[in-house]
Amino acid sequence: MLDADFFRRWMMVAAASVDREAERLTALDSAIGDADHGSNLQRGFRAVAATLEKEAPDTPGAVLTVAGRQLISTVGGASGPLYGTLLRRTGKALGEGAEVDRAALAEALRAGVEGVMALGGAAPGDKTMLDALVPAVDALGEGFAAARAAAEEGAVATTPLQARKGRASYLGERSIGHQDPGATSSALLIAALEEAAAGVEG
Ligand code: ADP
Ligand code: MG
Repeated sequence: MLDADFFRRWMMVAAASVDREAERLTALDSAIGDADHGSNLQRGFRAVAATLEKEAPDTPGAVLTVAGRQLISTVGGASGPLYGTLLRRTGKALGEGAEVDRAALAEALRAGVEGVMALGGAAPGDKTMLDALVPAVDALGEGFAAARAAAEEGAVATTPLQARKGRASYLGERSIGHQDPGATSSALLIAALEEAAAGVEG
């Protein structure tokens, strides 16, 4: 089962991974955006890590709700409200139990992803974070490793797409041939989930 410690670990691993990969995320965003995706997420996840160290929320749902709130209040770009909504909605859907299983997490993440779609109006194929998140949620029923692989494939598969949402869509056809920064950071988030789950029975 997955408890609050597991969810805290997920957020801490994600924060470390965003720190390590910030330059790459910003480089991807400099090709089809405004070169701030890495620094946006770095600021957001550092705030998440600092808050979780201070507050130690004691249920899975509360950990993600607190994390989502931090992202919304600290990240200026489009990705802050979108990732914040993802985590907050997922946290809310997890309810107030002390532990959840992987199936419940998959269902809750589905609700979170639907929140992202409702807020941003994007769908899979639009060259956004959803191109990694949706396949990951679909695959999570099979396991954390399957979700990670699906997210990574989804992120890579954004390269030949033309962006239809967000800043990259202003480029029209010139957005083709570049991997989407948000899909790339979503793959990091799902990889962090797998890493947090190592040795845990979901
Ligand atoms: P900004 O575009 O405001 O500079 P970021 O650079 O932090 O924000 O994030 C850009 C990423 O946000 C994109 O690569 C894309 O994956 C994601 N994104 C942008 N708009 C949307 C949307 N409407 N729905 C889902 N994801 C989006
Ligand atoms: Mg940007």
